[in-house]
Amino acid sequence: MEISEIIKSLRPNRVGQEMYQLVSELYPICRSITGNGFRTTLDIIREHIDVKIHEIPTGTNVFDWTVPKEWNIKDAYIKNLHGERIIDFKISNLHVLNYSVPIKRKISLNELKKHFYTLPDYPDWIPYRTSYYQEKWGFCLSQNKFLSLKEEEYEVCIDSSLEDGHLTYGEYYLKGENPDEILISCHACHPSLCNDNLSGVALTTFLAKYLSNISTRYSYRFLFIPGTIGSVSWLCLNEKNVSRIKHGLVVACVGDGGKFTYKKSRRGNAEIDQAVLHVLKHYCKNHEVIDFFPYGYDERQYCSPGFNLPVGCLMRTPHDRFPEYHTSADDLNFVKPDYLGESFDTYLIVLGVLENNAMYINQNARCEPQLGKRGLYPSMPNKEESMMNQLAMLWVLNLSDGEYTLLDIADRSNLPFNVINNAAHALLRTGLLKNSV
Ligand SMILES: [Zn+2]
Repeated sequence: MEISEIIKSLRPNRVGQEMYQLVSELYPICRSITGNGFRTTLDIIREHIDVKIHEIPTGTNVFDWTVPKEWNIKDAYIKNLHGERIIDFKISNLHVLNYSVPIKRKISLNELKKHFYTLPDYPDWIPYRTSYYQEKWGFCLSQNKFLSLKEEEYEVCIDSSLEDGHLTYGEYYLKGENPDEILISCHACHPSLCNDNLSGVALTTFLAKYLSNISTRYSYRFLFIPGTIGSVSWLCLNEKNVSRIKHGLVVACVGDGGKFTYKKSRRGNAEIDQAVLHVLKHYCKNHEVIDFFPYGYDERQYCSPGFNLPVGCLMRTPHDRFPEYHTSADDLNFVKPDYLGESFDTYLIVLGVLENNAMYINQNARCEPQLGKRGLYPSMPNKEESMMNQLAMLWVLNLSDGEYTLLDIADRSNLPFNVINNAAHALLRTGLLKNSV
């Protein structure tokens, strides 16, 4: 079975529902860049794919970084004088500044305010804040909640631990016909936030799951890592093997209703860039392409100058363009099965292009070959589709001179890749085209 057949077999949108189900299951877990929340997440992913779990000890040097202490949390709250939990980690894990050091004491409102994070512009939402590399504690709450607090003494408790332990990440490898790899990477370190990035975790899981059922030309490597420190660590531990990565995508923010946005690799003209641009142009009406810039997600590590890997980032709405980003409003209502399913299809179409892109040589290059005597003329010459298929054959024959790949031909002819690919296969069957060696 080929990728195109998976796409056909998936409709109607079953995979979008499956992805949404996984997002819902992972949503309540309090994750961070280290700790048991990340491990539990990988355990749930393991119900779908046999992801390998790696543990890197605290203190390990990875390039210019050091693997931090491991953070875990059981509970956190702020109680008023009546002993009522007015802020409760068990209601939303976003309430705790992620990586807060433990604390339990009585405190005045004035002092407590120094440890608060709110969003005055969106007074009902709880912000998501972290402090991975500076030891402190804090609470995140809605502006409205903050304004309702009375001047009294409060009891604060954060039952967390920050100790030597491990950084955990997941890796799933699929062996293809050849050792050249396609890298699919997502960050899985955020707590209850759906678009950024449980949508990416779900898409990566289901790509791995569905590709496991077919034979592929490329080998695939899927990474579930904590943002930044995870990709830095993985690159450091796997530096010798990164030359196998021929194409890559960072998966983030793929569950909202916005148009597709592709951030190009640092190279800007890699085959992955060409493939995604082609797919967005021919298969997605509304989209945007942006050039590489050195911040954002893990693509900035893969595309650091010492690696400069051909890795782009295919999203829907980029993180800085939706107000729900890093707030409690990035919840299970913000992402939808249909959008997840559409993103999954788009990723599969891109991978289908990469899997089938190849260079062929015209075996009858002196003038046009006679297509009719080989049964290649359209049976219904007036049909638009037949005309397009014939045109595609002429383009493939004309440009298969050892300079153009099928994707180059699709771009130059402005025909969809699958039409060019089908034409090439029809020509291959007649011997008019041969593989370029
Ligand atoms: Zn984020």
